[in-house]
Amino acid sequence: ALPSAQGHVRFDDVTFGYGSGRTILPHLELDVPAGQTVALVGSTGAGKSTLAKLVTRFYDVTAGAITLDGVDLRDLSTPDLRRAVVMVTQEAYLFSGSVRENIALARPDASDEEIERAARAVGAHDFILDLPDGYDTDVNKRGGRVSAGQRQLISFARAFLADPAVLILDEATSSLDIPGERLVQRGLETLLANRTAIIIAHRLSTVAIADRVLVMADGRIVEDGPPAEL
Ligand code: ATP
Ligand code: MG
Repeated sequence: ALPSAQGHVRFDDVTFGYGSGRTILPHLELDVPAGQTVALVGSTGAGKSTLAKLVTRFYDVTAGAITLDGVDLRDLSTPDLRRAVVMVTQEAYLFSGSVRENIALARPDASDEEIERAARAVGAHDFILDLPDGYDTDVNKRGGRVSAGQRQLISFARAFLADPAVLILDEATSSLDIPGERLVQRGLETLLANRTAIIIAHRLSTVAIADRVLVMADGRIVEDGPPAEL
């Protein structure tokens, strides 16, 4: 089905608990139309990361179902799911290797031109060219000389190149300097275009660009509306 996934995500009476532990998410209903950007907010322990990990099938629901374009996630092949749903984590993880290899992680077949196009799209191209060996610069373990904001942009370029129908993003809490922050913000907006996104949002600027904000408390969605109303 899904190289052409539209990105309609639905939680249908989803209940989840870790192992045999207590229920974390009780009877969750959520319908995210294709293309919508949803910001998830709420206090620590509310269940935001848990909800996000269910969409990537890092964990399976205990009861109920999550569907993508009407298909139960458990009925998708792993390659189809990996292609359709991509998660960008808080600590924008870079492995030891060139910037080019880091961007092409999910698309090792990508041409240099495609890699550069992805980097340009999210605003990473200019700083990459300023690195000692440009796209061939080794970023070293955990980013090396690349700043937090730059790491984030490389991870955005990676996600842009992977081009999933559904993007899950656990936003970095680390404060960025102002110019870096603006670049990351613009890169994020480009990355969000034409796909569904569920963002665990820590920055007000991210909440502001969402179509919809969900406030979670105790595993439940307690508020659901456009950012202006919250
Ligand atoms: P934060 O803002 O701190 O990241 P969160 O909203 O992402 O919080 P979750 O990480 O989803 O919250 O946690 C929800 C609940 O599930 C918490 O009570 C937490 O202790 C529990 N929990 C999270 N991960 C596990 C795990 N691997 N095993 C057991 N319980 C867990
Ligand atoms: Mg979390």
